[in-house]
Amino acid sequence: MFRIKPLKQAEISVPVGAVAMLNDMRILATGPVYVWLIESEDRKIIVDAGVSEPKKGLIHGFPCKGGGEQGLRNVLSGVNLKPEEIDTLIITHLHFDHVANATMFHNARIFVQKKEWESAQNPPMHYREIYEKDLFLPLEEMDLCLVNGDIEIEEGIRLVLLPGHTKGLQGVLVKAQSGDYLLSGDHFYSYINLHPPKVPIEFEDEHGQKVTVGSNLPFHPPGLHVDLSEWYESCFKALSLVKRSRILPGHEPSIEGQEFS
Ligand SMILES: [Zn+2]
Repeated sequence: MFRIKPLKQAEISVPVGAVAMLNDMRILATGPVYVWLIESEDRKIIVDAGVSEPKKGLIHGFPCKGGGEQGLRNVLSGVNLKPEEIDTLIITHLHFDHVANATMFHNARIFVQKKEWESAQNPPMHYREIYEKDLFLPLEEMDLCLVNGDIEIEEGIRLVLLPGHTKGLQGVLVKAQSGDYLLSGDHFYSYINLHPPKVPIEFEDEHGQKVTVGSNLPFHPPGLHVDLSEWYESCFKALSLVKRSRILPGHEPSIEGQEFS
């Protein structure tokens, strides 16, 4: 049985509209960049490798604190680990805030979905900047495992293909004492995507009449995706594996410092 700990490697600010589709692109929301530790008595597995060191406080134009190789060493030393000691690294997807520093895990087998690897070489136009080839191409020289769809890589750890946010995003289904958890990667950035507020937004039209806009959708997509229909399908795939309350979103601030077991 495994325990799961989200370890904050950096803090990044992105437009609210990137976190939740059709929201304001001028207001920034600050959230954690997590490196996840999945551990048992005799196993230590890492999910995602964080973000690079910011230059002048920015990554890709987004304000960012922490990060880099030192940021990774710091969070791992907080749980008495070094990257060299890890033999299994799972990368949920190859966006710049998940794969930077992956080359520090010299002794790990590195699991990426084949579809994700292929898409990252020639990404859709709106993702050209978000996939940084320098960060992931060197993995070809390492023990890179390109997997095809859902696969149990060891007892209690299953990779689950959840396309939509990217072509080959994978979640990680983890067996814990209290039941299974699903690490969703950025399929869900935060609980806003997973438990969308049902409160409608009210405003006045040009005649001063109250207009109410609200959605009663069961999920609210992130602002960035490659296929929205596929994204919704993957939401229901996730729910076929675990209850909604057992899903851990990729950048959810409220779970920092918690342990899931
Ligand atoms: Zn991310």
